[in-house]
Amino acid sequence: STQIQLSSRPTGWPTPENFRTVTVQLDDLGENQVRVANEFISVDPYMRGRMSSAKSYVPPFELGETMDGSAIGRIVASRAESLPVGTLVLHQLGWRDVSQGDAGAFSAVPELPGDSPSLYLGILGMTGLTAYVGLTEIGPVTEGDTVFISGAAGAVGTAAGQIAKLLGASRVIGSAGSDEKVALLKEKYGFDAALNYKTAPLREQLPDLAPDGVDVFFDNVGGDHLEAALDVMNTHGRLAICGAISQYNATEPTKGPDNMANFITRSLSMRGFTLNHHLDKASEFNEKMTQWFGAGKVVYDETVVNGIGNAVDAFLNMMRGANTGKMVVRTGTP
Ligand code: NDP
Repeated sequence: STQIQLSSRPTGWPTPENFRTVTVQLDDLGENQVRVANEFISVDPYMRGRMSSAKSYVPPFELGETMDGSAIGRIVASRAESLPVGTLVLHQLGWRDVSQGDAGAFSAVPELPGDSPSLYLGILGMTGLTAYVGLTEIGPVTEGDTVFISGAAGAVGTAAGQIAKLLGASRVIGSAGSDEKVALLKEKYGFDAALNYKTAPLREQLPDLAPDGVDVFFDNVGGDHLEAALDVMNTHGRLAICGAISQYNATEPTKGPDNMANFITRSLSMRGFTLNHHLDKASEFNEKMTQWFGAGKVVYDETVVNGIGNAVDAFLNMMRGANTGKMVVRTGTP
């Protein structure tokens, strides 16, 4: 099995030198174990946090050990009755082309005729669920709300924009890092307005797009995005804090918003969340998303990078914004 390990902990932006690729000889399967040929592995922003030794909600990657993360693949050898050869499985032993272990670590998922199984790493999986939880449990979005989503052209953001509309939002605004992404948000994803945060300070651009203010802010970015949102929040506005990707590679402590007093004067509330505390929403989400997806009410983009050997580049490029929608790595030789 070709596997990717963390060889040193980065300060600031990670580089390819922080990783190494190894070939591991796999043991024979034990009783109730399975072997999986992965088709796609996921690279996600939270993995940056796991490269540091700081305590967080997911334990750090160990140096010199194979990293993990979501992956989807097919059983190629099995000593478990519950998971026969050929079964499509979702699991957490990613960052390698072949995974194996106890059957309990692998969940069989339905085939997706006509769609790529990689959707289980994105819109039909954790990223879709993250958007759903943030807009239902955390926001929540109610009928007629104006919703602003930062990092809108990414995996969580594209899902969030569409779900906000399906939940009854009357106006959805998004921010992203290129004019192409901005156009896509408006043309494909139904955003009513979108801005490129790289062309002018967000604080200058956002008020024009939100003439009636913002009721729910779904934040993937933090920093200047949070500050600009606070300027335009309406009374009783809610801020659902999902991520702060603008700060994950920072080497200096980041400055807080200068407009915190708006929390008082406008009776705002802000709540952060991590998905692991909301997994009880998964079945409700699966039911709704299957319906929406089947009815063509939800669309998606994926940026697919070929070859396990390019997984590190895919991860680094995702943090730089090279992806539209979910960044996934198709295993196998490029
Ligand atoms: P994305 O698909 O959104 O990829 C990351 C994107 O972040 C890039 O495409 C880039 O887009 C944008 N970005 C990078 N740097 C900056 C910056 N300095 N300012 C603004 N945008 C930036 O990743 P995900 O959808 O997987 O994750 C989105 C967010 O959601 C992350 O913050 C992640 O940590 C969080 N998350 C939280 C979860 C939870 O449980 N709370 C679960 C899953 C994700 P652009 O070109 O627009 O700059």
